[in-house]
Amino acid sequence: MAGPKAHEWIADMAPYVPGKAKVDGVSNPVKLSSNECVYGASPKALEAFEASVSDLLRYPEADSAQLRNAIGDVYGLDVDRIVCGAGSDDILTLLIHSYAGPGDEVIYSQYGFMVYPVQTKAVGATGIAVPNKNWGANIDGILDAVTDKTKLVFIDNPNNPTGAYLPWSEIERLHAGLPDSVLLVLDAAYAECVTAADYKAGEELVECANNVIMTRTFSKMYALAGLRVGWAYAAPSVIDILNRVRMPFNVCLPGQPAAIAAVKDTEHLAASVAFNKEWRDALTAGLTALGLDVVDSQTNFVLVGFPQEGPFDAASANTHLMKNGYIVRALPSLPHHLRISIGTAEQNRAVIALLTEFMNGSPE
Ligand SMILES: *Cc1c(COP(=O)(O)O)cnc(C)c1O
Repeated sequence: MAGPKAHEWIADMAPYVPGKAKVDGVSNPVKLSSNECVYGASPKALEAFEASVSDLLRYPEADSAQLRNAIGDVYGLDVDRIVCGAGSDDILTLLIHSYAGPGDEVIYSQYGFMVYPVQTKAVGATGIAVPNKNWGANIDGILDAVTDKTKLVFIDNPNNPTGAYLPWSEIERLHAGLPDSVLLVLDAAYAECVTAADYKAGEELVECANNVIMTRTFSKMYALAGLRVGWAYAAPSVIDILNRVRMPFNVCLPGQPAAIAAVKDTEHLAASVAFNKEWRDALTAGLTALGLDVVDSQTNFVLVGFPQEGPFDAASANTHLMKNGYIVRALPSLPHHLRISIGTAEQNRAVIALLTEFMNGSPE
């Protein structure tokens, strides 16, 4: 066929499939499929968003300087090592596009965030998916997979879609075993809702190494997914690369003041984290009591394992939830599991009730 031709490795790529948002025949389904934070954003962030309406004819600040200052203040970080993006996906994507290409290898966990394999494919590099260990990243497996072609190692800590995390000592061990030509990406999208005492998101490693970047987002616990704001903390040499390749006005105008207000409202964040933990524990206990296999989670979702053989399998459970207006995430890579985002108190109770009914009933 004539016509323009994309790179051959792109032409046979499968596009990213987002969490479902609709169910046929249900008018207002409850969406628990994308790890959005139903507790909601800080009211101050919403006010700042509304106040930005009168400025919409303007371009946003190109370097998100005020937002970087606010992040630096709140988290005690060096502003020159911060870059902002249109969601952290933006930054993750730019990293792969900047550091890898055909012939290079990119390492990530077999069960991990989908953006890594998709964007690795997009640049024509080779993705190396290392089997997980106890649902988290397998550090020995990753170190064994490193070759002289390895350019990037991605660790989503905590992991999406499993919810598991690695203690800081494991991240230090991984970094110590990597050549300094390999960029270690610590994707800490769920850092704010981790309650485990031995967890660290990555700041301290960034400050003493030139091959580490930590990525963060306003989409999860700050509850601003719709605005697409993320940020990263890295050595100045890595920040310099990202500043060359990123879009000049990558963080939208309403997103900047809203994220500034959100990051400053530490009280709201703490309340949201407490709510999330309370319901993460309650969902885990309630579903475990049904005989389901719930992975210990440090995130705002739980991964729930169902019997592999019917009638109480994951696909039937999903059908039962869907029929009742509850959308959760079915994952092609984990056919015996469902990933369920933490909802409102009422929604979480309904999930437990529906799955109780399902496990006790005779599902079709
Ligand atoms: C949600 C998520 C992100 C990115 O979200 P953005 O909305 O692009 O900031 C990144 N990594 C993981 C593991 C996630 O679950």
